Amino acid sequence: MKKIFAANWKLFKTPQETRQFFKAFKEVSSQSTGELVFFPSAISLEAASQELVGSKIKWGAQNCYHQASGAFTGENSAQVVKDLGGSYILIGHSERRSIFGETDTQVADKVAFVQGLGLTPMLCIGETLQERESKKTFRVLETQLQLGLQKADKSKPLVIAYEPVWAIGTGKVATPEQVAETHTDVFNILKTLGFETTPILYGGSVKPDNAGELIKQPHVSGFLVGGASLEPASFAKIASV
Ligand code: 13P
Repeated sequence: MKKIFAANWKLFKTPQETRQFFKAFKEVSSQSTGELVFFPSAISLEAASQELVGSKIKWGAQNCYHQASGAFTGENSAQVVKDLGGSYILIGHSERRSIFGETDTQVADKVAFVQGLGLTPMLCIGETLQERESKKTFRVLETQLQLGLQKADKSKPLVIAYEPVWAIGTGKVATPEQVAETHTDVFNILKTLGFETTPILYGGSVKPDNAGELIKQPHVSGFLVGGASLEPASFAKIASV
């Protein structure tokens, strides 16, 4: 299966910086045989769409509402992302859950809506440090997957991103052993739910110097990268492991 290397730019990069990034990235990214996906911030999505016309590089929004349009002030429309040529929507990122109070029920509605539009949801799951230390990781991931996928269509594309909350933006990457063990757990949960062919990406302080070891672990189908995706050469290096 083709590896997937996804970049979550969070609330970084203006439209102009987005254009500059892709001009530089196209020069350095030819080594990658994987699927490349970018999640620019909402206001820079159109710039990304214009820069990526005719390219194999995919893109999408970091969040969306579960309806195409209406009186939903401040939300993003996945329908507009589709119309602009995007193909993915990131859903349930830990920052959406912890800062903006997004629930598993909302996540489930978004996953189903995005699949219904023919886009691919990239559903994020992950445990906090406290949950890991109190040995609740499996249970937390199982609940997030059971609830988040309760309305999902097994026959439509879906990607899972496992991102331990304690490894996000902290420089504290999960060890290869932790990644191997947890990805195997996620795979087994997905199998029980009937989603066994779903790619599982790892995210959390992925850098050019740890990507090579992490990609070798079982059930790791690629990465979702934050900080190290903001610079063309560093993301290109990660995407060519
Ligand atoms: P970092 O790679 O900066 O730790 O961020 C991970 C992340 O949250 C990607 O969605």
